[in-house]
Parts: sequence; structure tokens; C-alpha cells
Amino acid sequence: MIVAGNWKMNKTPSEAVAFVKELIPKLAGAKAEVVVGVPYVALPGVVEALKGTNIKVAAQNMHYEEKGAYTGEIAAGMLRDIGVDYVIIGHSERRQYFGETDVSVNKKVHAAIGAKLIPIVCVGESLEEREQGVTAEIVRRQVKIALLGVDRSLLLDSKLVIAYEPIWAIGTGKTATNEQADEVCRTIRALLAELYDKDAAAKVSIQYGGSVTAANAKELFAMPDINGGLVGGASLKADDFEVIANA
Ligand code: PEP
Repeated sequence: MIVAGNWKMNKTPSEAVAFVKELIPKLAGAKAEVVVGVPYVALPGVVEALKGTNIKVAAQNMHYEEKGAYTGEIAAGMLRDIGVDYVIIGHSERRQYFGETDVSVNKKVHAAIGAKLIPIVCVGESLEEREQGVTAEIVRRQVKIALLGVDRSLLLDSKLVIAYEPIWAIGTGKTATNEQADEVCRTIRALLAELYDKDAAAKVSIQYGGSVTAANAKELFAMPDINGGLVGGASLKADDFEVIANA
């Protein structure tokens, strides 16, 4: 069970450090693995503030090349060097506003793995796709391409996380129903069993994301194929995130 917060472009570095200091005692007893996804410039301070605690740190993006002439970009090795453990890859906002594709997601997944970061790979359909009845096809395609060439051992070691995030549920307050969310997570697990095998599929944490709140987290996380959540808005409030992480 992994509960990860995605702060997006929120909180300055000093606000970020103050916020995680508030989170530390609230989350000390969490049974889930707790992760905070913070803006690049806040990463060093947050990593330092969380040393020796049970809270792990994620970046929200990275480049797929190791180094080179990519002005403004950050490489996986740089993140690893400062003590980051996870990286969110292919969030729908990255796909929508920054031109990320299934192919670039696959390259990033390989680069993250190469740097010993755990990728949280985001997939999910748009409202139009759901209404057209192609959710399963869309999500299967996204996962299949994201994982091209990824070794089974990585799944067996639980070094890869998939977040199912229907685009229509992100930041909209329109949460998928427990059944809708679980159905797609089950489809993803079945695909993993098809691509690898049942043992490997069982070891992958599949998160649900999309308007998770303190009020709905418990029921969502209790669904058989949902192993935690990727949480945007509600991860910015310490009390809400506490309830969600302890759900
Ligand atoms: C997200 O950013 O991944 C997300 C799910 O956002 P929210 O929880 O605000 O819908």
C-alpha cells in the first residue's frame, strides 16, 4: 500500500519544509508507505527534513537522458544523488501541457530504473474516451508501452508503481466510484499478468488517483485491486493527508 501526495506547482521551498515537519508526527504510525511529490527546488530541503523518518520523497518529473544539452531539464541521476526515492512519470498534466507521450514515458521509466528511482507511472482515460467505452483499451495501451522492455524482476521486487488516474477525476472533485476505479486497476493487473505472470502482477502497487479526499479514501483503498492512492489537492492539507495516509 502506497499513498503518495502530488503537490504539483505548490509551496515554496521554505513552505515545503515547514509542511513536512508538520506531517512527520502525523504520519509516524502510518502502515502505508507514504511519499510526498514536491517541486524540484524544494527537494533538497524536504529530503533533509525527512531524514530518519518513514516518509519518502518523489520528484514530479525528470528527463530521460542521463545528461547533456537539455536546458532546464533534470536527470534521474541528479534526483537520486540528493536522496530522492520515487519519481512521478507521465502525469496527465505532463501529457496534456508538456507533450509527453507513451513513448517518452517509456524512456523515462527506463531512465528512472537505471538510476534506482521507483517510477510511479500515471495512466488514465479522458471523459470522452470513457464515454466512448474505450477506457480499457486506452489504459492497456498506455501501460503496455510504458513498460516495454521493463524486466520482470523489477515488478517482483516492487520497484514499479502504477497510478490509475482518470483525467476527468483529477482536480475536478468528481471521484470515480469505488467500482469504476477498482475495475480499471483490475484490468491493469490482468494486463501485467498477461505481459509477465501472476506473481509479478501481484507485487505491483496500483494506486487510484483523482479527487481522493479524507472522506472517500478508506473505501477506495479497501477495494481488492487498489493498493493506495496518488493524491493531489488533498495532499496539500496536513490534516487531510494524515487521514488519507492512515486510511
Ligand atoms: C493528481 O494530481 O494526481 C490528482 C489525483 O489530483 P487531485 O487529487 O487533486 O484530483
